[in-house]
Amino acid sequence: MRCSRGKCTNPAIIYQRYSGLHLCEPHFIAAVERKVKKAMRKQLMIEYGDRIAVALSGGKDSSALLYMLKEKIFHDRNDLEFFAIAVDEGIKGFRSATLRNAERVAKELEIDCFIYSFAHEFGFTLDEIVAKGFDQAPCTFCGVLRRRILDVKAKEMGATKVVTAHNLDDEVQTILINYLRGDIERLGRLQGRRAEFVPRVKPLRDVYEKEVALYAFAAGIPIHTIHCPYASLSFRSTVKSMLNELERKHPGTKYSLLRGYARVSEFLPAVQTERKLLRCELCGEASASRICKACEIIGKMN
Ligand code: SF4
Repeated sequence: MRCSRGKCTNPAIIYQRYSGLHLCEPHFIAAVERKVKKAMRKQLMIEYGDRIAVALSGGKDSSALLYMLKEKIFHDRNDLEFFAIAVDEGIKGFRSATLRNAERVAKELEIDCFIYSFAHEFGFTLDEIVAKGFDQAPCTFCGVLRRRILDVKAKEMGATKVVTAHNLDDEVQTILINYLRGDIERLGRLQGRRAEFVPRVKPLRDVYEKEVALYAFAAGIPIHTIHCPYASLSFRSTVKSMLNELERKHPGTKYSLLRGYARVSEFLPAVQTERKLLRCELCGEASASRICKACEIIGKMN
C-alpha cells in the first residue's frame, strides 16, 4: 500500500485502523512527533532553561522518548538540560538487562544517567518483597517505591520538569483500573496538579504503545523485548488484555476512553483544586495520609 498523505508515493509501513490512514516511514515519524509536541503543549510548557529529568527504564517507550526529545523536538534548544533517572527495583533476570540498555541509550545521546536501587534506598529488593508473600501484586509495591525515588531524586538534583514515558495504552489502563475500582480520588489525581512535587509531563500520552515501538524501530533505537516476570500477576495485565481486545474489535476505543476521561476529569475535585498534601510523620515527604505508602511498605518489610 502507498502512503495516504497528499501526493506521497512511498510505501506505507503502518495502517492506522483508528484513522483509516496508511503512512510511510517519514510521515509516520512526523505524525508521532506532532502528537508528542501537542501533548506537551497541552499538559505543560517547557520553559527557557528547564532542567529536565527523564525517567528512563531502558525499555522502548522511555528510550524512544528520550531520543525524540533530545535529537528531534528540542535539538536546537541549547538552554535545556536533560538527564536520566533509572531505577533498579531488584528483579532478577530482568532489570539488569534493561538498565544496560538505558545506559547505552543515554551514552549515545550524551546524557547523564543516574541509577538508584531499591536495595540502596530502602534496604530491600522487589524480589525480597515478593518472597514475603504479601497479598498485593508486586506492581503495587514497585509503583509506590519507584515513584518515591523519582520524585525525591528529581527534586534533589534540581530538576524543573520530570518527563515520564507513559503511552496511550498505559494511561487508559490506569483510567479504567480506577473506574473499575471506583477510586474517584485517584482518578482525579491523574490530572491534578501536585504542588509539592516537580511538575510532570507525559509526552507519549496520545501515542499507542504499538506506535511507540514502531517509532523506536524506525529510528533505529536499541530496544529490549524482555518482559518483567511480575507483570502478568497484576490487575493491569487483565485490563490491558481487555482493552486490546476492545481496540481490535472497535478501533479507536482507547482514544475515546482518553477523550472521555479528559471531559469527565474537569468535574473531579482533585483536578479543580490544587491538592494540599500532608507530611508523612516518618519520612517527612508529601503524603495523602499520616504515613506515606512508601513508609508503610518499609514498615511491613521490617
Ligand atoms: Fe514493577 Fe510491575 Fe513494572 Fe515489573 S511490571 S517493573 S513489578 S511495575
